[in-house]
Amino acid sequence: MGYNVAIDGPAGAGKSTIARLVAKRKGYIYVDTGAMYRGLAVHFLDRGINPGDRAGIIEALKEAEVKICYENGIQQVYLNEKNITERLRSEEVGRMASQTSSIQEVRAKLLELQKNLAKEQDVVMDGRDIGTCVLPDADVKVFLTASAERRAKRRYDELMQKGIECDLATIERDIRERDEQDSTRELAPLKQAEDAVLVDSSDMTIEEVADAILSLCK
Ligand code: C5P
Repeated sequence: MGYNVAIDGPAGAGKSTIARLVAKRKGYIYVDTGAMYRGLAVHFLDRGINPGDRAGIIEALKEAEVKICYENGIQQVYLNEKNITERLRSEEVGRMASQTSSIQEVRAKLLELQKNLAKEQDVVMDGRDIGTCVLPDADVKVFLTASAERRAKRRYDELMQKGIECDLATIERDIRERDEQDSTRELAPLKQAEDAVLVDSSDMTIEEVADAILSLCK
């Protein structure tokens, strides 16, 4: 069994930046589970499936194979043997991922993949249900959050930096909608595990958050 660090929290709380940093410092693998849901979302979007079409999504799942690998330490997502990493970060894909991640068959498809990655190696895994469902026995559990305004601004800056045109108000609305969807769904909702340490990053620097989490690790 690898050493497992679970980081959960809402969209834009800084999970991926922090998880990547903590993984690098410790020499662990960073597993971005949101990217897996996004990978499946790309598959559904490419097939023109409506997010409300549950039967269509379950059917399409049969022809979706998501694989994770690492190139120069950076996680790459393959969908049916094609590298789709570049397509994962758009708001359209994020929205589709959030809408379809409430479907049991979608979650089941990714759960085994996630558990196996953590079994074989030391990982920092981030997502919504890592401490509660995927790795309930994780060595360290963190619930990382920040105010919705701050999270929207961070996502806006991230997209602009990548040259993706976007609108701050729309991003904040999407983030609030995503929070609502992720925390009220029946299956594996976004919530703090009882034994998770709460870290509010609203007024913390990346370094401060990383240090706080590193101090919890062995
Ligand atoms: O973290 P990220 O924004 O990339 O995740 C995209 C969507 O995937 C989330 O809004 C959430 O609905 C879903 N997700 C999930 N469980 C995880 C990770 C992500 O349901 N462990």
